[in-house]
Amino acid sequence: MDIENMVQNSALLKAREGKGGRRKGRSWKWRDMLCFPNISQCKDLASSMERNYYSLCVIQPIGQELFWLFCQSRPELKNHVQLLHDLNSFEALFDSDRKDYGTLLTTSSVFLQSVQCVLAVANHEQSCRESLERGPCEDVFHTLHNYLSGEPFSQYQDSMYFDRFLQWKMLEKQPITKRTFRHYRLLGKGGFGEVWACQVRATGMMYACKKLEKTHVKARRGESMALNEKEILEEMNSRFVVNLAYAYQTKNSLCLVLTMMNGGDLKFHIQQMEKKGLAEDRVRFYAAEVCCGLLHLHQKSILYRDMKPENILLDDNGHIRISDLGLAVKLSDGRRAKGRVGTLYYMAPEVISDQKYGMSADWWGLGCLIYEMTTGRSPFRAPKEHPNNSEMERRITSTDEEYSMKFSHEAKNLCTKLLTKDPKQRLGCLVSGEKEVKSHPFFQQINFRMLEAGVIEAPFKPDPRLVYCQDVQDIDEFLPVKGVVLDQTDNEFYATFSTGSNPIPWQNELIETRCFEELNVFGPNGTRTQDLEQ
Ligand code: ADP
Ligand code: MG
Ligand code: MG
Repeated sequence: MDIENMVQNSALLKAREGKGGRRKGRSWKWRDMLCFPNISQCKDLASSMERNYYSLCVIQPIGQELFWLFCQSRPELKNHVQLLHDLNSFEALFDSDRKDYGTLLTTSSVFLQSVQCVLAVANHEQSCRESLERGPCEDVFHTLHNYLSGEPFSQYQDSMYFDRFLQWKMLEKQPITKRTFRHYRLLGKGGFGEVWACQVRATGMMYACKKLEKTHVKARRGESMALNEKEILEEMNSRFVVNLAYAYQTKNSLCLVLTMMNGGDLKFHIQQMEKKGLAEDRVRFYAAEVCCGLLHLHQKSILYRDMKPENILLDDNGHIRISDLGLAVKLSDGRRAKGRVGTLYYMAPEVISDQKYGMSADWWGLGCLIYEMTTGRSPFRAPKEHPNNSEMERRITSTDEEYSMKFSHEAKNLCTKLLTKDPKQRLGCLVSGEKEVKSHPFFQQINFRMLEAGVIEAPFKPDPRLVYCQDVQDIDEFLPVKGVVLDQTDNEFYATFSTGSNPIPWQNELIETRCFEELNVFGPNGTRTQDLEQ
């Protein structure tokens, strides 16, 4: 056992545990780092900000918190947010409890009072009652939001709660540098640089920092690829895809700060199993979460193109996320992709034969993944076998994969349908659309609504005392390329890339680490405590 590795691992473990400590991993100066600017400094922001109700009060997490605090301070609006809150809770309930909850809601005074204010006018009460007893009612949501986006939203913008929102937005826009983070051990190596564990000094939040060496990017003309990866990551807002919290630069590298995944990748976990291959319940769980991640990408017209066990990472609780979006492409307006991109073992036949392709390639990838999770090997290659490229291409395009006894009837049926050579006949690509994957009998036990709400427990939880990485000394060093000169054009590109905090993940970080609630106090009569202190 190497001393250096032990030292680095114990530093990382300590930082991870710091989350539960007295200051929860925050710097002793954390309050200064998150000190609100005076409201007079927020004027420019106030005048330039787009006043969109959904963005400001529904989508942005801190925005929603403050808007709700505003509503709670108004007797006539209190019930409305309470009802919104209760409606949100529907997502986390078992199907069998939803009817009772709906009934309970409709008979409660909260429902009556807010419905009488808002809906009865629109003659909705009876139909809402009925549909609420079946599940959350879209009509109620819409009517409530429509109402709140009118007069209440404009009053909110004149309140101290909105001033506070502007102050938070100013903090969000603070410049991000390497001093924003503490840096821990090397986690892995990629094509353009290294991935390191890091922790935000102000909040204690842990992240993975993917560095792209500027000299490498330039020498290999990787600028548009790097920017593509950053812009796609930036759009991600799913618990099943790695999210981007910050993008910044240092003297030598461009940095993408990503959701920290401590539990190792699926390749590692598949190979850990003595019999090579995971139990069916685990396969089903991971496959279902990957399926949700793929649907999130596809809804945003993004094709992933890199499905393989190494790219599926586990978090502390054993949930997975899709990672490494370096090969992903945005296919707007039904455009299709071209190009033999990905890892050969997992490439779909239409990609290999160099045709144009769409989302079909990812559904093939999911088939390969389920196959490999079940048997411990990819469908067209024996373990440790290294067929040459043309042999691999021949097998993928013209031979049928074999199914051992490890496959249940449903698992085999699902894999066969996903590994259909003709993309037009493949599950996920038929006229009935992508939902058909979720409704395959293999997933019968999975409640996708609850899975999306994050209330299903994972079948396996990684050991919190372990560091699921290669030893530091086994990860090859990444040397800068010599003789590459960085000029003004490069600097312009770096500036475009380094956009700082990404609003939704940043706001979630502040809420999750409880920095938001500790700082967001208002003094008596609406005075701002921080103003008084200053
Ligand atoms: P590349 O696109 O250059 O292959 P990756 O995104 O695959 O880079 O990252 C390289 C390695 O870094 C991965 O194999 C993994 O070990 C580690 N890694 C990447 N992202 C994370 C993350 N979010 N959490 C933990 N480790 C990560
Ligand atoms: Mg990779
Ligand atoms: Mg990559």
